[in-house]
Amino acid sequence: MPSVTLPCHTSMFRGVKPERHGITTNVWIPPARPVPSLLDVLHRAKKPTTSIYNWEQLRDLGDPGSLDHSYFLNNCYEPGGDLELAELAAGVLGGMEGGFAFVYLGYVDTVGHSQGWMSDPYLEAVTQADQAIGMILGELPPQVVCIVTSDHGGHAQTHGTEMPEDLTIPWLIRGPGIRRGYQLQESVEIIDNPPTIAALLGVEPAPEWAGKAIAEVVAGEGAVEGLS
Ligand SMILES: [Zn+2]
Repeated sequence: MPSVTLPCHTSMFRGVKPERHGITTNVWIPPARPVPSLLDVLHRAKKPTTSIYNWEQLRDLGDPGSLDHSYFLNNCYEPGGDLELAELAAGVLGGMEGGFAFVYLGYVDTVGHSQGWMSDPYLEAVTQADQAIGMILGELPPQVVCIVTSDHGGHAQTHGTEMPEDLTIPWLIRGPGIRRGYQLQESVEIIDNPPTIAALLGVEPAPEWAGKAIAEVVAGEGAVEGLS
């Protein structure tokens, strides 16, 4: 809480809840007590970092200097914007050799606000996001582990509340060393993303991070260094 895009993304990257990182609206403010972002931790560990996104407020998910590559298209309000972004991402990430990349598709949220969550146009936007993800997955090298998730849900034409519809998100992972066809037994929180991704890359988590690495998705002992 609040189930709002910038506070939730800040939690997804800085591994702490809004009461700790201090971002409670979609307007970024400098933190009083900074917490390292996943991007900062990976950058210090010499892992290349990339961000590809279509909602401009997501430019502050790490400290200045922590991104090696950054691509922004101002098209999250346009039908087809996510597909355009995915085409860009597929081209950029097709040659990915290591490190971490974040890809943000914003059109599902746009249609949720204009047409309502779970409406027919909303489900069409979800189908388009699925197609966009497929375009990217089709180009990724086989050694890449991919997580598909969301920052928040929604109800009616809004979100931000404590309703389960606003707070419940998908969390899917696939790649080498990851269990296939397995359903998570434990609940996953958005603050679990940074320690999980750091572990997948063999990087020590920041001591400030409050989440846990999701170890149960690992296929076998030793399959993923740091998670097994
Ligand atoms: Zn929204």
